Amino acid sequence: MAQQLECDVVVVAAGLSGLAASVAAAEGGARVITLEKASNTGGAANMGMGPCAAGSPVQKASMIEVTPGELFRRHMFYTHYQVDPRLVRAYYFKSGDTIKWLQDMGVVFNSVRPAFRARERTRAYADGEYTWHVVQPEDGSEPGPRAATTMTKRMTERAQDLGVEFLFETPGKELLVNDEGAVCGVKAVDKNGEEVEVSCPAVIVATGGFGANAKMIEEKIGLEWGKNLYSFAVPGMDGDGFNMCHAVGAGHTPVTMEMMYQLPDNMNHFYVEGAFRQPCYWCDRTGERFMPEDDIYNTTFVGNAINHLPGKVGFAIFDSKMLKHWKKDGPDIVSHVHPHDLYEGFEEQWQRDLDTYFDGAGNHVIAQADTLEELAEKIGIDPEGLAKNVAQYNEMCAEGFDTLFEKEREFMLPLESGPFYACRQYMGAYGTLGGVLVNDRMEVMTDEHEVIDGLYCVGTDACTIYGDSYNFAIPGNTMGFCLNSGRIAGENAAEKSADFSGDDEWD
Ligand SMILES: Cc1cc2nc3c(=O)[nH]c(=O)nc-3n(C[C@H](O)[C@H](O)[C@H](O)COP(=O)(O)OP(=O)(O)OC[C@H]3O[C@@H](n4cnc5c(N)ncnc54)[C@H](O)[C@@H]3O)c2cc1C
Repeated sequence: MAQQLECDVVVVAAGLSGLAASVAAAEGGARVITLEKASNTGGAANMGMGPCAAGSPVQKASMIEVTPGELFRRHMFYTHYQVDPRLVRAYYFKSGDTIKWLQDMGVVFNSVRPAFRARERTRAYADGEYTWHVVQPEDGSEPGPRAATTMTKRMTERAQDLGVEFLFETPGKELLVNDEGAVCGVKAVDKNGEEVEVSCPAVIVATGGFGANAKMIEEKIGLEWGKNLYSFAVPGMDGDGFNMCHAVGAGHTPVTMEMMYQLPDNMNHFYVEGAFRQPCYWCDRTGERFMPEDDIYNTTFVGNAINHLPGKVGFAIFDSKMLKHWKKDGPDIVSHVHPHDLYEGFEEQWQRDLDTYFDGAGNHVIAQADTLEELAEKIGIDPEGLAKNVAQYNEMCAEGFDTLFEKEREFMLPLESGPFYACRQYMGAYGTLGGVLVNDRMEVMTDEHEVIDGLYCVGTDACTIYGDSYNFAIPGNTMGFCLNSGRIAGENAAEKSADFSGDDEWD
C-alpha cells in the first residue's frame, strides 16, 4: 500500500524552475510538496552563472536601458514569429521584477553582462545585450561556472522558510488523473523503493528535459552522444516530465537542444578549450573555412555550423605568433565563462593533455606540430586541402581583406609561425529545450490546445520560445525563462488550489 499524502500543489523537481514554482506557490498560500529525484536542489542551474532579465533594479542602477518591450520585439524578430508571442511577452515582462524577488530572498548580483565581448567593440559584438545577471558567489570570489549555486541555495532556504516540504531521492513517476480528466496528484517512489501517492488539485512538472538520455536525444533530435555530440549530460535529466505529461495527453512541440560547441569533458580541459575560442583559423576536415571566425563568440551559431560540416566536426588552428599576442595583449574575444587567467594556465594543461586526450572515436582532440602538414595528419584534416586553403587565407591577410567571409580586418592574422596548435571542435549543448505544449499561464494543453485541468509545466521541459536556435545575443535566457515560467505557474497553481479548497469535494 502506497504512502498517501495530500497538499495543495505538488512540484515535480527542485531545479531552478521547480524552486521558483515552489516559492511562488507557497507565497500564494498553498501547502506545497516538492518531489526531487536527486539528494539536493538546483539541478543544472548549479553549474551556471545567472539569468536574463529586462528592466531590473540591477540594470537600472547601472544605467543599462533594456526594456521588456524591446526584448520582446527583438526576440520575436529573431525567431521569425514561429513561437508563442504571449508566452514570450509573459516572460520578459515579469523578468525585471523577478530579479527584485530574488534580491529580496538574499541573492546578490555581481553585474549585468553580455555573453562575450571583444577588447574593442566591433561589428561582430554590436548585438550583445546586457541582460545576463551574473550571481555573486557567497564566498566573495569572482563569478565563474557554478556561481548560480548561491542563487539556488537562497531560493531553497526561502522555500523551507515558507514551509515547502522537500522529498529528496523521491522521483515523480506518474501523474494521477480523475474521472473528469483533471490531474489530481502524482505517484512517486521514495529512496527505499516505497510508493508515495500525493493528492492535490495542481501539479507543476519541472524536470529539466532529457539532456542525459542519449537514447531520447538520438530518437528525437538525431544526434549521437559521444560520437557527434558532447553536451553536458547533467545526471537526472532523463525526460521523466516529458514522458509523464505526454502519458496524460499533453500536446507536442518541436524539441531542440540549447546548442553550442565544446570539447569532450570540457570542464576538465577548460584552459585548452578557452584558449582556442579566438578568431584564428577555423576549418572543416577538408581544410576549408566555414564561417568568419570573429563570429565564433556566438556559440549557438558555431554549433549550428558544425552540424552541417562533413563528419559534424570542426577544427580551430592558431600559430605561435598568435599565442604570443594573446599572452601579451590578452585574448581578442573575452569569454566570461572560461578562466580569467586563460593564457597563464594554458601551457601546463596543454602539455598534460597533448598525448592523452581522445574523443569517443579514439581521435586526438588536440595536436601540435612544427609544420601545417604534420599538424593536419595528427588531427585528421586533409593536408593538401589545408595547405591550399591556408595559402589563400594568408594571401587575404596580406591584402588585409577577407574576400570570402568579410571577417574584421583586425583579426586577419596569417598562419605562418610554427609550432602550430590545433583542436577538434564538436557540437555541444547545455540541455534539451521543449516538448510539452503550454499557454502563457504555463498550463499544459493538448495538441488541440485544450487545457489539461490541474497540470502545469515549466522550465526547459516547456521552453519552446527560441524556434530553431537559442539566442545568445540575449544571454541568460534559459535561466530567465525557467525562473519566470516557474514563478508564473506557482502563482497560478496557488490561486487554483485556493479556489479548489473552497469546493466541497476537497473538504
Ligand atoms: C554548465 C552549464 C552552464 C549554464 N549556464 C547558464 C547561465 O549562466 N545562464 C542561463 O540562462 N542558463 C545556463 N544554463 C542552463 C540552465 O542551467 C538550465 O536551462 C536550467 O537550470 C534549467 O532549469 P530547469 O528547472 O528546467 O531544470 P534543472 O535546473 O536542470 O532542474 C531539473 C531538476 O529535475 C530533477 N528531476 C528530474 N527528473 C525528476 C523526477 N522524475 N522527479 C523529480 N525530480 C526530477 C533533477 O534532479 C533536477 O533537480 C547552464 C547549463 C549548464 C549545464
